[in-house]
Amino acid sequence: MANRVLLLIFVVATFALATAFEPSPLQDFCVADPASSARVNGHACLDSKLATAEHFSFKGLHAPGNTSNPQGSKVTPVNVVQIPGLNTLGLSLARIDYAPFGVVAPHTHPRATEILTVLEGTLQVGFVTSNPNNHLISKVLHKGDVFVFPVGLVHFQRNVAGSGKAAVSISALSSQNPGVITIANAVFGSNPAIPRDILAKAFQLDKSIVSGIQGQF
Ligand code: MN
Repeated sequence: MANRVLLLIFVVATFALATAFEPSPLQDFCVADPASSARVNGHACLDSKLATAEHFSFKGLHAPGNTSNPQGSKVTPVNVVQIPGLNTLGLSLARIDYAPFGVVAPHTHPRATEILTVLEGTLQVGFVTSNPNNHLISKVLHKGDVFVFPVGLVHFQRNVAGSGKAAVSISALSSQNPGVITIANAVFGSNPAIPRDILAKAFQLDKSIVSGIQGQF
């Protein structure tokens, strides 16, 4: 009986490992076929004879994103949505523009590690380790510096170059579809809302303050 339980634990653990990352392709490529109604993990493949260079390319990443928003930042993603040829290949890109003192608010990518390079400006970046330590690992990066945000961990960026100075970074991510969970939006801006007594306990705040924060979303 104990052996069976151990075997079951092993099988479950192996399955979890095997499905935690995108699998290696079993063919040269699998251009996402938006017309297919097949439901698979990722997208169904277009007939490879129909693939063209356009399926593997994207234009315009040189163009600055519009940072006129409350966060003062703009992410321009280049993932399987923009490049259907990325389907099943397990990686993607993003350009991020920052207004002076602009922030990419604390967020996590449920399916990807992120490696960021500063192209222009100065960024303070950081991530927080998981419970129970919740250790903040943070650094100020200059042009040409590179930093890694491990998969699943909460992280952020802030432009600290000074007034009037914009910043730009490029990130590579280890998924064709990394996903983003912005912590504030997920916790205070969910639809429908998380009951405020739960958030009041979680954040040790008065319910009226929780309602006020929820109202911002
Ligand atoms: Mn990120």
